[in-house]
Amino acid sequence: MRVRVLGCYGSRFPGLLTSCLLVNESLLVDAGAVTSTLSLEQQLVIDDVLLSHAHLDHIVELAFLVDNLCFLREKPLRVWAPAPVLKSLRDHLFNNEIWPDFTRIPQNRPAILELKPLAPGVPCRIAGLEVRWARTTHPVFSAGYCLSTETAGLLYSGDTTVTEPLWQLGRDCRNLVAVFVETSLPNRLQRIARESGHLTPALLANELVKLGRSDVSINVFHMKPQFVEEIVADLEMLDHPHLQVLRGGEEFIF
Ligand SMILES: [Zn+2]
Ligand SMILES: [Zn+2]
Repeated sequence: MRVRVLGCYGSRFPGLLTSCLLVNESLLVDAGAVTSTLSLEQQLVIDDVLLSHAHLDHIVELAFLVDNLCFLREKPLRVWAPAPVLKSLRDHLFNNEIWPDFTRIPQNRPAILELKPLAPGVPCRIAGLEVRWARTTHPVFSAGYCLSTETAGLLYSGDTTVTEPLWQLGRDCRNLVAVFVETSLPNRLQRIARESGHLTPALLANELVKLGRSDVSINVFHMKPQFVEEIVADLEMLDHPHLQVLRGGEEFIF
C-alpha cells in the first residue's frame, strides 16, 4: 500500500493544507487537499473517495474535484462514508445552492458523483482494500477506518477526541502497521479540544494505551497551524519511539 500525504493540517495557511491522503493513486482518504496538490491527469486517476466526516476541512476540495472531472470522464467518482455523512453532503453542499448537485450532472450520461453509504459492521472492498469503520467522538457523525491488504493495515481517524470504538477497530485491524490520528490542539487547550471533538498530545497518549501496540508507527496530523510549535513540544514530551508529526508531502510504502 502506497500512501501520499497531500494535506495534514486542521486549518489552512499559505503552504499548509487540510486533511487528505492519497492511497495507491486511485483512492482519496478525506478530500481537504486534492485539487490544490494533484495535476488534472492525477485527479483523473482517482476512482474512490473515503470521507471521515462532513466538516469543511475534510471535504472542501471534493467540491472542486467533481467540477474538474465532470465532463472529462465517463465513470462516476464514488464517495464512500456512513449514511449520515453522505446526507450532510447532499443537504448542505451538493444542494444546488452552495454547489451544484453533481449526483445529477451531467444529465445525458452517468453522473460524476456517486454517493455510496457504508453499512455499520459490514466490511467492504474499496480500491482493492478491505475497509472497516467505527464511529469516533465528534460534534458531527464521524468515522475512523481500518484499511487492510494481505500484508498491511492502516488505522485512520479524521477527528477523534476520547473514544473507544476506534481503538477496538485498531486492535482488530488485520496486519496493522500504522496509525494516522489527529492531534489538533496543545495540552493547555484540553477543555476546548474535548468540547470540539479533538485530541491534545496528552489525550493522545491516553488513547494510544487503549490501542495497546507499541510497535506500530503513529502519524500525527490535523494540527491547527497557529499552535504547531506548542503541539510539537507537547508531543516530544511523550517520548514515543514510533511517533512522527506529518508536515505534508510524505510518502509511505506499507
Ligand atoms: Zn477536521
Ligand atoms: Zn471535524
